[in-house]
Amino acid sequence: MLVTMKELLDQARVDNYAVAAPNIDNEHNLRAAIDGAEEMNSPLILGVPYHVNPDICYLGRIATDLIRRSAVPIALNLDHGKNFENCVMAIRAGFTSIMVDRSELPFAENVSQVKELVKIAHAVGVSVEAELGHVGGADNYEVDGYSGLTVPAEAVRFVAETGVDCLAVAIGTAHGVYKGEPDIRFDLLKELREQVPVPLVLHGGSGTGEENLSRLAREGINKVNLSNELKRNMVVELNKQDLSQYGIYGVYNYLGQGFKEKLIENIQLFGSQNKAENWRK
Ligand SMILES: [Zn+2]
Repeated sequence: MLVTMKELLDQARVDNYAVAAPNIDNEHNLRAAIDGAEEMNSPLILGVPYHVNPDICYLGRIATDLIRRSAVPIALNLDHGKNFENCVMAIRAGFTSIMVDRSELPFAENVSQVKELVKIAHAVGVSVEAELGHVGGADNYEVDGYSGLTVPAEAVRFVAETGVDCLAVAIGTAHGVYKGEPDIRFDLLKELREQVPVPLVLHGGSGTGEENLSRLAREGINKVNLSNELKRNMVVELNKQDLSQYGIYGVYNYLGQGFKEKLIENIQLFGSQNKAENWRK
């Protein structure tokens, strides 16, 4: 069933778990993601990053169709909407949530651009995620990892002034591939969880480490974005197969299997297994 991100995350905040938010690129990993969530009886958020998939009208159409036929509650989110036009386009394409990423702008400018899109999105029942502080790149972790940490008092003001439904925070993770495991600021997460009245989102979930991820989900993160490690596992799974003779016809199945297996592992870490029950009452 197609739902808003707000209702998924508000419930996750009440019950203390995180919803997996895999990035999807095409019909194959879209189907794999939905299958994985159904097998786990878990809610799910599908993320489509605009810079990777600019044809969001096409993806929006097939994703909303498949989601409507699924047995579990799923939101469709534009990941990292970088400008006004692609956020509005996502709403038109049927997305039930948009991320308005203005985290590289100064605070006041971030507030005013997010606020404008919150007004538009909320008018048609679409949820909004924004980012405060800045989650940088893992390839430059020594510098980026800690340079843009979220300040709790600013986060409280930001949520009050913009009206966002959830907030991506910078607590020591980064996008991409880490050299080792990142050093997560759980103390900062605790402060944010206590002070910020909306669900918190973690970007850069791939490679964060199993123990870190399950602790993050228990201690205040309600959505974890996943991309890199799901895609890497597609390749791992494909490489295990003997593709000589007719094996090649299974290529998309193997890729989907790798994506689904890694997603299921994450759903188990995040504690959202069987939480789809809340939508069947
Ligand atoms: Zn991100």
